[in-house]
Amino acid sequence: MRISTVGEVLTFAQRAIDRLDAQYMLSHLSGMSRASLIANPDRILDTHVAATFANYVAERANGRPVAQILGSREFYGREFGVDENVLIPRPETEVIVEQVLARISEQNRLKTPASRALSILDLGTGSGALAITLAREIPAASLTAVDISAHALRVASANASRLNARVNFLESNWYLALEGQRYDIIVANPPYVAADDDHLRKGDLRFEPPLALTDGSIDGLESIRTIVAGAPNHLLGEGRLFVEHGYDQAERVRALFAAAGFSDVVSTKDLSGIERVTHGSWRIDV
Ligand code: GLN
Repeated sequence: MRISTVGEVLTFAQRAIDRLDAQYMLSHLSGMSRASLIANPDRILDTHVAATFANYVAERANGRPVAQILGSREFYGREFGVDENVLIPRPETEVIVEQVLARISEQNRLKTPASRALSILDLGTGSGALAITLAREIPAASLTAVDISAHALRVASANASRLNARVNFLESNWYLALEGQRYDIIVANPPYVAADDDHLRKGDLRFEPPLALTDGSIDGLESIRTIVAGAPNHLLGEGRLFVEHGYDQAERVRALFAAAGFSDVVSTKDLSGIERVTHGSWRIDV
């Protein structure tokens, strides 16, 4: 049996795939941190680990995303199971979590108000990353999450069980199955990539569910139009809607919010300095 060291397999991998991807996958497999992999090139690897790593490198060289190869991706400090039926959770979506937390008071977060729990709806939940994170970060909230894909809902339910989150999952095309239901907060990371965007045919996006990335509209805004227009029928007074969108869509999304009657409409930047999440308040006039 051939003996492989950390340094050998990483050198081999780096000829075919990105260096960080290689380190990340080997770290995941071996249980060694990336720093420790770099500091210990002579460490002998378990033959099973070395063989599995070689398979991972071949899959990555074929273009498959690291999160699908490993079957999981970290989001807001928790590991979410992912497969080809769900969008891979992305760091920019954490902006929604941060903004929701910033907008609700400490009291709403930790204590169930005497009258009722804070209700939150996640539209197009995919892996469940947003709904599950909000359920865990806001113990007083009651979470509902919908997706049009039954496959995605299976992934999301499994994640909720594993992460001890209580979320009510429903199969629904946006608001269709939610007739008459109203919430304090609605969040969504909908498909927003324009149908003719080249990125859809390049790199990792080719491996993700097309439905999660684009709704086929020329401007990529069809789903967001549906979500914003329907929100007034599903928000309680003083309720707030948070929507993730593309790097060049913030101004148009703010206009959609304003046209639907939202006030206090703001876009928040992601870590790359791009306006990524737009949110606004709904006031029912008395
Ligand atoms: N942010 C993703 C991307 O550009 C798209 C995710 C989405 O459409 N919701 O790869």
